[in-house]
Amino acid sequence: MKQKQVTVIGSINLDMVTTSDRIPHQGETMMGTGFNTVPGGKGANQAVAAARLGADVTMIGCVGDDPFGKVLIENLQREGVLTDYVEPVTDVPSGVATILVSDGDNRIIVTPGANDYVTPTYVEKYLDVIDQSNIVVLQLEIPLKTIEYVTGYCYRHNIPVILNPAPIQEVPDDVLKQVTYVTPNETEVTSLDVGKEKLIVTEGKQGVRYFQNGKVQHVPGFNVTVEDTTGAGDTFNGALAVYLAENHSLKEAIIFANAAAALSVRKFGAQGGMPSRSEVIELMK
Ligand code: ATP
Repeated sequence: MKQKQVTVIGSINLDMVTTSDRIPHQGETMMGTGFNTVPGGKGANQAVAAARLGADVTMIGCVGDDPFGKVLIENLQREGVLTDYVEPVTDVPSGVATILVSDGDNRIIVTPGANDYVTPTYVEKYLDVIDQSNIVVLQLEIPLKTIEYVTGYCYRHNIPVILNPAPIQEVPDDVLKQVTYVTPNETEVTSLDVGKEKLIVTEGKQGVRYFQNGKVQHVPGFNVTVEDTTGAGDTFNGALAVYLAENHSLKEAIIFANAAAALSVRKFGAQGGMPSRSEVIELMK
């Protein structure tokens, strides 16, 4: 079978994780207990998830012209994601997430940097990539104007689109009318006014709820030992894209994505726990 083409248009970040015994007070300097850099960004995470599951994945996005940009592109390449359309932006920093972790609690600041340069004009250069896609995957960490532009284009050209509406924000009505599927979690779904038949709601360990044949359908979550749930949603979206691109039914795709996401929470880090296709098939048996 020829591999199906999944195109992810979205964010690429470096997560900078500092651990400490407690969160410092305002104006205080204190010693940390550890530091780690991990590739992240919802776009990049979803691209990596789809690549590990065997799709031909192309990423459209931007990094900074700093050393982080190189690291982020190399990471995507190592995962088999095509990065020909990921450009460094001159004099702009790469997107970073500064994450403070103490006592199981975290505080996060995301600075979009180069991700803000994934504009409609930027994406317009790569419409031929979109034309060749079996599915396009979007999240909300690049400008909303770009989301509107891509969903409009794909709608007119009959290319299916998954919109993962995260992080939570209002999404224009025309976008929600034109996307094929919307995949909020339980919190994000409250801010959306979207047709039920497009909704696929992820509910953590409870699994997934979606609407088909006039009824709410529920796919229960797998019972797994949880190490770190970061990136569960990203794994779900990457996996869903892979199976839908391969023309599996919606139900099959949701069952596959639910299994892939369950496997991802067993290991540390967003990309760290993303499973291979054979691991997912094994769990589904
Ligand atoms: P995150 O922000 O942590 O990436 P999210 O809030 O976007 O996640 P969730 O609804 O928490 O998304 O999880 C996405 C999917 O991952 C769920 O629908 C389920 O398939 C799987 N999942 C998440 N947590 C668990 C868990 N504890 N056990 C089994 N499956 C899980």
